[in-house]
Amino acid sequence: MAELKTGGAQGYLRIATEEAFAPPEMMAAYVEVLDGQNVDPGFESLMGFYMRHKSERATNIFRRLQDLGAERLADMDARGIDRQVIGVTAPGVQVLTKDKATALSVLANDQLADACRKHPDRFTGMAAVAPQDPAHAAKELERAVKKLGMRAAVINSHTHGEYLSDQKFWPILEAAEALDVPIYLHPQTPPKAMIAPFLEAGLDGAVFGFGVETGFHALRLIGSGAFDRFPKLQFLLGHMGEALPFWMYRLDYMYGAGLKSKRYPFQPQLKHDVSHYLKHNFHITNSGVAWEPAIKFTQAVLGEDRVLYAMDYPYQCPPEEVEILDRMDMAPATKKKFFQTNAEKLFKL
Ligand code: MN
Repeated sequence: MAELKTGGAQGYLRIATEEAFAPPEMMAAYVEVLDGQNVDPGFESLMGFYMRHKSERATNIFRRLQDLGAERLADMDARGIDRQVIGVTAPGVQVLTKDKATALSVLANDQLADACRKHPDRFTGMAAVAPQDPAHAAKELERAVKKLGMRAAVINSHTHGEYLSDQKFWPILEAAEALDVPIYLHPQTPPKAMIAPFLEAGLDGAVFGFGVETGFHALRLIGSGAFDRFPKLQFLLGHMGEALPFWMYRLDYMYGAGLKSKRYPFQPQLKHDVSHYLKHNFHITNSGVAWEPAIKFTQAVLGEDRVLYAMDYPYQCPPEEVEILDRMDMAPATKKKFFQTNAEKLFKL
């Protein structure tokens, strides 16, 4: 394998857009949750593993998550990553109680902003918000963008089993649209009401459960009419859009058929087909999917301006994946959009 370097000699900078960190204080709050009563089964499976398992994978990731300095920068250098767009790791503050979640969202944003100030040419921040208190979340997003220089919000899918399709969360969507920043809808494990058969098969995590849960969340959001209310709002989905691009044709047909026949009378009539919202209100990253056919398919159906590079550090960061993507058989201008300029445009870098 050739040595990977930063600096753009290959014709583009590499901007990785779904990279995770965890404030040590949030990890301490997680310990309290894990040691408490009635632990959410998805959280116990996910963070019980990464925080307590003795495997090399778990211990390395747990340490790297909490570093916003030398180790992260060395890892970026070794992989030729020029910039990371960083957000709080799943499930963020969303697994905590309202008061703890709001306080820790502020703390996480201050910590991340501090690291971004120290390394302005390497790090860009995405704001943590606590959907448990939508009014606070909207205000905190505004503070994070206007005062701390953050360029997005990250929401780790459901909050205690509740989805952004619920209008009580829409102050957050309204704020993001008004501030002109995207929301990264990052996965977490399925909620208690969904997870049992996934856990039974060991498929609750990033292997599959994440994708099912988060793709479902994005569809709920589209079906709620949120993008008719907030037509300029932009979301990001990782992991090749949690497979939604592959579903687009059938979603248009079946969702349209359901609306037309009023099968579910509570569903609002939408102004457009499902695919219209995916093409106009979503950007998709390839986090965790270093696979040329999936990337090209998504560029073909969503447009090459809406598909961005992401690594998914520290959960999945083999340098070989950077090489695979560098070697993609793709027009140089398109590859530059993928690795660099789409991110520069969306995050205003
Ligand atoms: Mn991730």
